Amino acid sequence: MAYLFKNVQIWDGENDERYPGEVLVEGNRVSAVARGLNQLQRDGAQLIDGGGMTLMPGMVEGHCHLSFVNPLRNQDLGEVPPEEHLLRTCRNATLILNHGFTSCYSAASAKLRIDVVVRQEIEDGYLAGPRYRAAGPEITVTGGLGDERKQHMHAESFGMLADGPDEIRRAVRLCCREGVDNIKINISGDEFVSNARAEITSMSEIEVATAVEVAHEWNKRVACHSRAAASVKRAVRNHVDCIYHCDFADEEALDMLEAVKDKVIIGPAFGLVHNCVFEGDVVGLTKDVVERMGMPRKLEFTIATYKEMRKRGMRVVVGGDYGFTVTPIGQNARDIGHFVKFFGYTPAEALKCATAVGGDLMGHRGELGLIKEGALADILLVDGNPLLDQSVLVGPQRFSMIMKDGKMHRDPRDRAMPERRKIAAE
Ligand SMILES: [Zn+2]
Repeated sequence: MAYLFKNVQIWDGENDERYPGEVLVEGNRVSAVARGLNQLQRDGAQLIDGGGMTLMPGMVEGHCHLSFVNPLRNQDLGEVPPEEHLLRTCRNATLILNHGFTSCYSAASAKLRIDVVVRQEIEDGYLAGPRYRAAGPEITVTGGLGDERKQHMHAESFGMLADGPDEIRRAVRLCCREGVDNIKINISGDEFVSNARAEITSMSEIEVATAVEVAHEWNKRVACHSRAAASVKRAVRNHVDCIYHCDFADEEALDMLEAVKDKVIIGPAFGLVHNCVFEGDVVGLTKDVVERMGMPRKLEFTIATYKEMRKRGMRVVVGGDYGFTVTPIGQNARDIGHFVKFFGYTPAEALKCATAVGGDLMGHRGELGLIKEGALADILLVDGNPLLDQSVLVGPQRFSMIMKDGKMHRDPRDRAMPERRKIAAE
């Protein structure tokens, strides 16, 4: 199958501006990109008149939790039975694709096999969903983020408990046996954990080293939850591939990250922090509670850290811990606007974080999240200019077309094109 897109404004994931042009897709790849009008021959391809809309790469959610089905508290996820949990996760897979995310990098599955099963259903063509890198549960130590047990009472959460190198090794191997693509470890605590707060480094050096060593032996990537400065340094020293949060990174931690910036990818997962502070009252997180949890302080540190990350040229992905009650899945693209508003990114820089940098995290550096010859054909047609207004990417309304791997998920020819879109691109 081949498609020729004409009359579009191309934002290609590399340039800072859009340009009028044409794109040819053959099979699951972009086979030609041209500037200007009437440059490419149709040669049997189906013609799509873009009506002057923006043609851009499909977005990549770099910190995705498809199996986080709107819990208020962490232990709520442990209480969802596996059958319902799988079905609700399948619905999220389609939902997020409808919102323009053609790729998702999982930052943990709430139960061991959910991500893996969902990824397989998508790959086998039974379920409409994004390209998906499946994770295991968050491997955590006693008392760490994801351990919701009480001394008098058992409780399940999204964590996979493991203490000491032997148990860690076994936990990682279990995830590998079940077919995950990436391993998640929680090195620091969080404000949501009663006694292991964000600035506590809960996982020991030997535990982190063991997790990474085993994962890399099985050719898996490792992502980690690291808010405390010491936990960021521990992650860098032990070759973690993707380091999330980093809010409280100090000067030394930032220097260490900068030294490995070609290898390591960073993700702030800012949506959750943002929504807790500014919109928490919607779900009963009063100003008081938010203050007591230290969220405004965390917000301030996160903003300062990511301004610095930008200056140092770190590779940062968009992805905001969507999936909690306070951060419903579907709002994911809000993070692009947050990068501009809070972290000082230019719109083009923020969009690159949501496309090309994410493509790198997905394991397709230089061929995913880009519109160029040879790139994988994940393409959006957007009614609006995301360089001027990032909010056009939030919600499904503005996506006239969603193409994944050269196949139409939403076909622009299915809906009547509004008159104003018929005006040719200049
Ligand atoms: Zn997360």
